[in-house]
Amino acid sequence: MSEQKALWWQNLPAEEIVRHAKEVCDIAILPIGAIEQHGPHCPCGDDDFNAIGMAELISKKTGVMLLPCPMYGSHPYHHWKMPGNIPLTYETHIGLIMDIVRGAQVAGYNKFIILSAHGQVSSTIVAVHKLGIEGIFALSLHWYDFLRDNQDVLDDYMWHADEAETSVALYLFPELVDMSKAGKGGGEPLVDRKFIIAPGQRPRPGMMYHFEGTFARPEYKELENGIIGDATKATREKGEKIVTGVVDHVAELIEDIRSRYAVGEKPPVG
Ligand SMILES: [Zn+2]
Repeated sequence: MSEQKALWWQNLPAEEIVRHAKEVCDIAILPIGAIEQHGPHCPCGDDDFNAIGMAELISKKTGVMLLPCPMYGSHPYHHWKMPGNIPLTYETHIGLIMDIVRGAQVAGYNKFIILSAHGQVSSTIVAVHKLGIEGIFALSLHWYDFLRDNQDVLDDYMWHADEAETSVALYLFPELVDMSKAGKGGGEPLVDRKFIIAPGQRPRPGMMYHFEGTFARPEYKELENGIIGDATKATREKGEKIVTGVVDHVAELIEDIRSRYAVGEKPPVG
């Protein structure tokens, strides 16, 4: 499909949104990030802007509708109390995602992809299963999971305000990044790293995902500059490779959904 304009719900009249779902495509992406400090070199909306930027490129490539990004997200326990972060409680965030999807369904959208640029499986997984009970087809993806097949791009996995996130930011919104303030940082997990799957790491048998435990000390007690990893290694070129990989992968997923279910056809959920 040739490149077109990104379709943002908030920029369109209702009748165009409804017509698009009925005649062209009833798949919608909900980009989500979080309001979270990202070190001295990146803005607190970093994850939102990363999700929005990727979603926009996916819409241009595939013609899917984009739901407005809610900006706020949920956070693992250790992000709480860190200045700059504004975490939603898990219940609030689960409810928020579900309400957005339910509202979009009224306009004729039947297939949903939640594209997250922030570690918030604690609410996205619960939301998609609760939506499933209501008969709604919804998938949730975290972009850094695509790094597992793309590890030649980066020296490290994805951590926070680091090489990975800052590279993506440099590609999508360089005007908000100040590389003269980029640094290195991090803490030590509470169990050996070999037991934990880092974001973007290809797992080995027996490892736990980083979100499956309280593996870290609270950031406000541990982090000196709000960075986990090495932001000085970030480049726009790395960001372009990562973003292109994510966009192509999600576009492939969208084509798969399209090949199985016609416009207007609900996948058999519920
Ligand atoms: Zn982030």
